[in-house]
Amino acid sequence: MSTPITSAGAAADMPHAGALIKLHDLSRSFVSGEVEVKAVRGISLEIVGGDFVAIMGASGSGKSTLMNMLGFLDQPTSGEYWLDGTNVAGLDARQRAVLRSRKLGFVFQSYYLLSRTSALENVELPLLYTLPPVMPRERHRRASTALDGVGLGARVNHFPSQLSGGQQQRVAIARALVNKPEILLADEPTGNLDTRTSIEIMGLFQALNDNGLTIVMVTHELDIAAFCKHVVVMRDGRIISDTRNEVRHNAARELATLDSAEQQAKLA
Ligand code: ADP
Ligand code: MG
Repeated sequence: MSTPITSAGAAADMPHAGALIKLHDLSRSFVSGEVEVKAVRGISLEIVGGDFVAIMGASGSGKSTLMNMLGFLDQPTSGEYWLDGTNVAGLDARQRAVLRSRKLGFVFQSYYLLSRTSALENVELPLLYTLPPVMPRERHRRASTALDGVGLGARVNHFPSQLSGGQQQRVAIARALVNKPEILLADEPTGNLDTRTSIEIMGLFQALNDNGLTIVMVTHELDIAAFCKHVVVMRDGRIISDTRNEVRHNAARELATLDSAEQQAKLA
């Protein structure tokens, strides 16, 4: 009952053919004692460069397990993951780390910022592990540019506790983007944010996507998925629908509408 646009075909000798991400029959099971939980059950999916995908589904449907495999934070029990033509299973840990730092940025619901560390230093962190090494002055420059890019150029020396939730998430997004990845993976990035701030983050994502960044984002809110180009719904570890968003919402326009509604409310 699934997947009008994902039919994967025989993946073994068919590397990616245009897709940036290609999953073929991907599964992940967790075994604890006698019990086996099949968190992801045979997912086949193609994501092309420039896409903006929402992964939806009830709690426990396998969204985070899927995202963690996409982000190399976890490995599949079976199936294939091709990233830009490379079979990820064929890489050793070091090769995976290199590919990850070149291609992927990851954002989570809780921002995971270091609390005693400025916004700038938080964003510099991934550059400490880059090979060849990035010199301190260049690290500062790249981190400031990344913070500028998310609208936080004036907050570089602030600590996380001095920033709102939305601003902290922007710092986390800048950190994910500082290595200029092709793909941003975000697991419920607006899960801790109010409606307005969530739409602001979607505005940032839409602008980044317009500039060519591919985004895969988990959300359980339909209002948020409405800003994406492509919506994948999961249930019990499987994809139950995979559709294009024909009428996509524009976050900048929705924010402008919110603004004028607030102004009218003030004048009334
Ligand atoms: P979602 O993100 O959609 O809420 P998850 O991917 O977190 O779902 O979880 C899917 C299923 O896999 C759940 O039943 C969950 O309990 C189980 N699961 C996830 N991670 C683990 C793990 N590390 N060990 C055991 N079971 C897990
Ligand atoms: Mg989850």
